[in-house]
Amino acid sequence: MVELIPSQEAVMQILTRTGAFREGHFVYPNGKHSPHYFQMPLAFRYYDTARVLAVALSRKFRLEKDISSQLPKISVISPSSGGIPVAFGVRDALNAEQIYWAEQEKGERMFRQYVNQGEVNPCIIVDDIIRSGNAIEETVELVKSFGARIIGCGSIVRFSSAPSEIEGVPIKSLVEFDVRQYESGQDCTECKDGASPEQVRY
Ligand SMILES: [Zn+2]
Repeated sequence: MVELIPSQEAVMQILTRTGAFREGHFVYPNGKHSPHYFQMPLAFRYYDTARVLAVALSRKFRLEKDISSQLPKISVISPSSGGIPVAFGVRDALNAEQIYWAEQEKGERMFRQYVNQGEVNPCIIVDDIIRSGNAIEETVELVKSFGARIIGCGSIVRFSSAPSEIEGVPIKSLVEFDVRQYESGQDCTECKDGASPEQVRY
């Protein structure tokens, strides 16, 4: 049986319907302006949507022999709180053995769980959205410091300006988004049009 993965358009429709993707005029905490805003947890507040998105991403992983051949002895790892619902959904769909998530503590990315060297299975790193790729790169270093191998990486949305692979592993995503962003209001098209901006957080 062919397992269907929803198209990028279908996923964007889900994100729009749930309020996880909006168009307008937004100002980020770093002062950048953009006509787009993603707030992915809004899509993950609904059980059905969360499941559809996580299952779709898991199917992309299952197609990779290096992943499917090692199941269920793999771990699914989230770089931050935003990726936790994705990690749980992907873990369920793949029936993977372990799950971990990281947090920023005093500017350093650490696992929430106490783990010992050698305890972490070969891993898939998943997040809800990859904007710059910094969180993923820090998580790669964290995972490697525990002696684990990275066999997969993915997110629901990846900005096309972010890296497309890590450690030789391609980053899977359901949506590749070409983000439009301005360094300040001076170059912003929406500012020029006189649209009033909305201050947003990440
Ligand atoms: Zn603006």
